[in-house]
Amino acid sequence: MGWTERQRAMLNEMGIRLFQPDSHLVDRCATSDGKQDGSPLSPAERGPATRETRPSPPLSARPNATSPREAGDAQRIATLDWPALREAVASCRACPLCERRTKTVFGVGHERAHWMIVGEAPGEQEDVRGEPFVGKAGQLLDNMLSALGLTRGEAGPAAQVFIANTLKCRPPGNRNPEPAELAQCEPFLLRQVALVQPKIILAMGRFAVQSLLRSTEPVGRLRGRVHRFGGVPLVVTYHPAYLLRNPEDKARAWEDLCLAREVAVTQRAAEQIEA
Ligand code: URA
Repeated sequence: MGWTERQRAMLNEMGIRLFQPDSHLVDRCATSDGKQDGSPLSPAERGPATRETRPSPPLSARPNATSPREAGDAQRIATLDWPALREAVASCRACPLCERRTKTVFGVGHERAHWMIVGEAPGEQEDVRGEPFVGKAGQLLDNMLSALGLTRGEAGPAAQVFIANTLKCRPPGNRNPEPAELAQCEPFLLRQVALVQPKIILAMGRFAVQSLLRSTEPVGRLRGRVHRFGGVPLVVTYHPAYLLRNPEDKARAWEDLCLAREVAVTQRAAEQIEA
């Protein structure tokens, strides 16, 4: 991040330590009950310090990976306001997933949330309710957010997150999203990010990472440092469904959330100085 000297000095005065993009922050934050959770990463766990994901192009200039929508269609989506975007998602028939969906799952939360959470795709319960993360994985996500003082419920933009998925329709039988489906749905996610203008994006799981960072590297190698998506800081972490199956990685996920919080706080403070 290109902090100005003035921002650096002010942040320092405020006791806010600047994060270094792509540095491995092993600083841990207290859990809600005051405990320190998780342990610092070993070099092996962190992966090579200099490893970089491909920098993501500006939101307006991202080519689709496969099976591109008509270029004009993606461009049109990139201009929509919230109501028009909601309508475009609800009426989308761009891929075969529309045939079997019950409801599209647009996303929920504050339209100018500081935190944007990006998951994978709706499952069975989400498809019925039309809301992301309402099953067991959603309960875990809500608990993780609440430990940071965040919520999907009504609150101001600093506390109420926006939760979106890479796919807005359920893949049958909860199978993995296919590249063509991710590509068709991508303009919706890009527009959501552009409208929310979050201070931090938390990418949960490998499909969020594939969509946002264009990386097929495992989550375990991308987490623990700050990436960028179209200028927005992005932290990678494990998907809550993975954490339900692998609870031993919860401490690492907590470290990721703490890193994301540090970034969000710093970002916000720097913007206040500029204002
Ligand atoms: N998993 C996701 O990634 N998103 C949902 O909405 C539900 C489960």
